[in-house]
Amino acid sequence: MKKIDSEQFRVKPGKKVKLDKWRTLVKPVYDSKEEAAVMLAAHQQKLSAQQNLLYASDSYSLLLIFQAMDAAGKDSTIAHVMSGVNPQGCQVYSFKHPSAEEIDHDFLWRTTRCLPERGRIGIFNRSYYEEVLVVRVHPEILHGQNLPPALVNEKSIWKERFKSMRQLEDHLSRNGTKILKFFLHISKDEQRKRFLERIDRPEKNWKFGVEDIKERGFWDTYMRAYEECLSSTSSKAAPWYIVPADDKQTMQLIVSKTILDAIKSLKISYPTVTPERQQELQSVRSQLVQEKSGIEIRNERV
Ligand code: ATP
Ligand code: MG
Repeated sequence: MKKIDSEQFRVKPGKKVKLDKWRTLVKPVYDSKEEAAVMLAAHQQKLSAQQNLLYASDSYSLLLIFQAMDAAGKDSTIAHVMSGVNPQGCQVYSFKHPSAEEIDHDFLWRTTRCLPERGRIGIFNRSYYEEVLVVRVHPEILHGQNLPPALVNEKSIWKERFKSMRQLEDHLSRNGTKILKFFLHISKDEQRKRFLERIDRPEKNWKFGVEDIKERGFWDTYMRAYEECLSSTSSKAAPWYIVPADDKQTMQLIVSKTILDAIKSLKISYPTVTPERQQELQSVRSQLVQEKSGIEIRNERV
């Protein structure tokens, strides 16, 4: 089995990202599809154990943000990576077009209501980052957000939004939220193949919308918006990882390994038991041992 070094996919703070320099496909980290499945199962098992620990220690929370072009595999990555995790400790939120109520608030409002509690894992399938991506690519969305006109300057607003995001993430980090952000980096050609598959395979038809092909037409504009976003908002508190997405198994293994490394770095452990509590547990234990079980009582009656 090959070692996965998640660090090579991290955007160092202040680094200027040029997406055509970041690979969408790397040498597979496995020798066969079967081996990939075994590796992923091992990651899932470890993640399940780590999540138990996170839950029991009830101090840190984990926020995972996923952004990508259509068909890069956000949904399937979330499903595969988290499949072993106890659903009680994990919540996934998908952010689509905002509602009228959401538009009537500042752009961070709808997502901050969904942040994970201590001990939990929160997953954002798209996020407040859409506010500097789709909204930047289609400025008419910005002009429909009911902002005071004096505050809408297309030259400065994106930088202002980056700043709001960095400040939010720094704040969360200082309060115990570990944040990891994944950009699933798919090539335009691989997207074409996956769209064709969605059209050709009836059971995948539902996944394809005509708006997907419209957004594909803005590919280069999206790439420029992503580049500036990734360059401006990858920080120590909330790093971006640019994950090669043309091979789904490699992508899922990189994402799961990155999450495992991050939880490990928190150095959390199960809450320690004080001598008083230990004594209490022992006293309850002896009561339970002395108590006759239902079966013993029934046997005595016979
Ligand atoms: P799927 O894999 O099912 O296609 P999806 O995340 O692409 O998942 P869709 O319902 O197809 O979901 O699309 C949601 C759309 O909502 C995306 O085009 C996204 O850009 C858009 N969206 C998300 N947040 C915002 C926002 N704040 N402002 C405007 N549009 C947004
Ligand atoms: Mg879509």
